[in-house]
Amino acid sequence: MSDGSMIELIRDAASKATARGDTIAARNYYRAVLAQQPHDVDAMLALAQLIPVVNERQRLIAQAQVLEPDNPAVLAAATENEKHITQGLKIILVPTNDTQQSNRLDVIPPVPAKPMVMCAVHATMEATLRCTSCDRPMCIRCTIPNEVGQLCSTCRYKRIPERYRSTIQHWMIAGGITTALATIIPIPLVFLLSIPFIGPMLYLAGGMLIGSLSAQITLKLTAKRGRAMVMASGIGVGLGALIAMIILFGSHISLMILLLTGISIALAIRNLQQTLH
Ligand SMILES: [Zn+2]
Ligand SMILES: [Zn+2]
Repeated sequence: MSDGSMIELIRDAASKATARGDTIAARNYYRAVLAQQPHDVDAMLALAQLIPVVNERQRLIAQAQVLEPDNPAVLAAATENEKHITQGLKIILVPTNDTQQSNRLDVIPPVPAKPMVMCAVHATMEATLRCTSCDRPMCIRCTIPNEVGQLCSTCRYKRIPERYRSTIQHWMIAGGITTALATIIPIPLVFLLSIPFIGPMLYLAGGMLIGSLSAQITLKLTAKRGRAMVMASGIGVGLGALIAMIILFGSHISLMILLLTGISIALAIRNLQQTLH
């Protein structure tokens, strides 16, 4: 048997193996052909088609291109493989009937070159997650884990019960009421301070009265609770006490009054907290 007819036989075996899906055998046959005829472009292209690794395919196709740059089959193969490379494919699933585990190659999905999604709040930050509720893209700064997943600031706010959703208007009302009461209530009590024991006690009770009374009125008017409301009221207590002290004593304030007023303010804030929390 001549070398030529031998190669024809191998080539024939190779295409038969390809047809029945025996890719291992087919690759071996085509390699055998190429070992004999290293410039066999047809064998190169056929082998390339059987190789799942895109880089390896590319190597064979490039060889074929060097040999026959104008061959339409070479050009077609080159174009097709170029497409795989642009898609980011590393491995291509070759139809096979091979049962060998080692030969089973799966397509490695390409890493999609997805466009960068920006945070809905921070335009310069890349969004890494989406809000579980509204699907808005969020950056790492915006994501605060919640019992329902990751929520954006808007959705998180919506989940806060209505009575805890206070605005600056409500804070102004809370602060205003407390300032007024904390200014007025101490005035008569200061005059009772000279009464031993009862005087200071009444003064401290005044603090509690300021706290609970302003909390009640605030709730009636705004129906809002929460930490912000307590803070606004607390600031009002401090401000009112300061005004009352200036009105009553000016700069001649005693250490005892200062101490009693401090305790009184603390009691007022404690009462505010208890009602407005
Ligand atoms: Zn949301
Ligand atoms: Zn953000």
